[in-house]
Formats: sequence, structure tokens, C-alpha cells
Amino acid sequence: MDVKVGIPRALFYYQYYPLWKTFFEELNTEVVLSDYTTSKTLDEGTKSCVAEACLPVKIFYGHVMNIKDRVDYLFIPRFTSISKKEYVCPKFGGLPDMIRNTIKDLPPLIDTEINLRKSGKNAMKAIMEIGGFLTKDQRKIKNAYKKALESYREFDEKIKQGVLPSDILDRKLNVIRKSSEPELNIAVIGHGYNLYDNYINMDMIDKLRKKGTKIITIDMVEEEVIRKNVSVLPKRIFWNFGSRAIGGSMHFLEREDIDGIIYLMSFGCGVDSFICDLIERRIRRTKDIPFIILTLDEHSGQAGMDTRLDAFIDMIRWRYRNDNNISAHG
Ligand code: SF4
Repeated sequence: MDVKVGIPRALFYYQYYPLWKTFFEELNTEVVLSDYTTSKTLDEGTKSCVAEACLPVKIFYGHVMNIKDRVDYLFIPRFTSISKKEYVCPKFGGLPDMIRNTIKDLPPLIDTEINLRKSGKNAMKAIMEIGGFLTKDQRKIKNAYKKALESYREFDEKIKQGVLPSDILDRKLNVIRKSSEPELNIAVIGHGYNLYDNYINMDMIDKLRKKGTKIITIDMVEEEVIRKNVSVLPKRIFWNFGSRAIGGSMHFLEREDIDGIIYLMSFGCGVDSFICDLIERRIRRTKDIPFIILTLDEHSGQAGMDTRLDAFIDMIRWRYRNDNNISAHG
């Protein structure tokens, strides 16, 4: 029987799943995903995790609880850095230790460190170590990685063309548009694991689409464009998400076809609180464009989210009908 490797459907799942899936399958293992996020995922995660963790980490815990008894290995890499001179977030770096020290009866963890802060070449070292959990055949690991990169590039190309990762991974492209009004382009800034998990974002993406909007995220912006934009800042941003969010939002501000910007923020996220403030100030002083911050935590209510989204989209439409006489700041 195939060895089963479990991947929690959370955190970097929305960024790298096609790469990991191909890699592990090429090494003759069966990839098992945890179920979609539900209230049970959050309950279980909250019970087993430290109280001060952010919502996405609690959800990650819930996914580990969901999958841990069904697999031979759990893939929880230690993400220190995924880009030169930048870090991910301390919680990602400590994730395997946090999980190991708080959840009982775990299968062995594949917890290799991914640290590309000094050089992208470290990726190969990490890959050889991950593959080494499953085979001693180094050539096979290298070939599996080559194929995995092809899957990843294919996935990334589709995103750059404007497809949301969740539409590719969860295959549910056909949300029925219910608005007869002209289509609006709404840029949504936030961590992928918040934007693309329908439970965490309280169906925000589907609701916006039903209201006749096209969603544009920073994942759709070319890396060179992001890097060029952030390079003009007087100080370097040390967080990978931070520099991507700022570079992406600067790009959105340059575009004439963006009708409004939403920042989806995680309560309890240090990176978000700092970056969101920087982005908000830059938007306010650069352009008269509708902008709203929506904060997510485990107590966020559906009704509150719906009301704010409705008001935001209606305000944009009223502005177009009334020659921009309505405040852009919600
Ligand atoms: S970046 Fe923020 S939301 Fe993401 S894991 Fe770290 S603290 Fe949580």
C-alpha cells in the first residue's frame, strides 16, 4: 500500500499545493488533504492551540486534528523565508514545534526548514531533505522536483491570467452573478489563506462576485512589478507578505481600471496591523479611491461582513451615478 502524506488545507496550501502534490505523487506516495474548513475545524483548532494565536493558525491546528489519524506522515515544513532578505512570519517558523508540543498522537512530521533568505539555491537542499523522508533515490527526488516545478508554473500562470487559486484548487468557477449593473474591478489585499478559504472569509469572494465584481488579488500581479514598486520605499520591508502587499497595492493605485480596494486583515496579526496602516496611509494620500478594511477573527459575524460589503459596493456604484460626490472612505 502507498505511504500516505497528509497536507493540511490551510496556510500555504493555497500557494503551493500543486507543487507539493506532484512532488509527493512522483515519489509514489498518496497525498491526503484535510477536509474543507468548517466551524468544527475552528473549534478543534481553538481548543488545541494557544489562545493568542491568530485565526489562520487556529484553523491550521483544526486541519491537523482533522487529518492526523489518516496518514503516515504530516507535511508541516518550517517556512522561515521564501524570498531573498525577507521572512515569512515567526508563527510559520515555529509551526512544527508548536504543533508537536500541543497535539498528541501525531504521525511523524516532515518538518524541513525552507529558508531562502540568503539564496534560492537552498530550495534544492530542502527538497532533497523532504524527499529523503520517503526514498533514498536522489535522482528520483530531483526528477520529482522538476515535475513539481512544472505543475507550479502552470498553476501560477493561470493565476497571473486572473484566475483565483481557490477556483483552480477547489474547482468552483461558476458563481452566478446576480447584478445587472456594470462589472466592477475590486482589488482585495490579504493573506492567501484568508482570501481563498471560504469559511475564514465568510464567503466574501463569492458574495462580491454575485454583486457583479471581478476580484483582483496581489497573487495576480507579476513579481517584477511588485519588486519594482517596493524598491522606491525608503526602507526595506522584511516580511514577504508585507512587501508583496505594498508593491501590489501601489500597482493597483496606478491602474485606472480598479474601482475599489479591500484590505482583509487578520485580527492578532502583527504583520497585517503594520502593513495595513502603511497601505491605508498611502492610498489616502495618493488617490480618491474607495477603500475599506475588513478584520477577521473567530468572533466576526456574517451579518456584519455582509452589511459592510453591501455598503462598500453600493457606495462605489452611487459614486459613479452621482459624479463622485460621495466620500471614498466608506
Ligand atoms: S502572517 Fe499574520 S495571519 Fe499569517 S500566520 Fe503570521 S500572524 Fe498569522
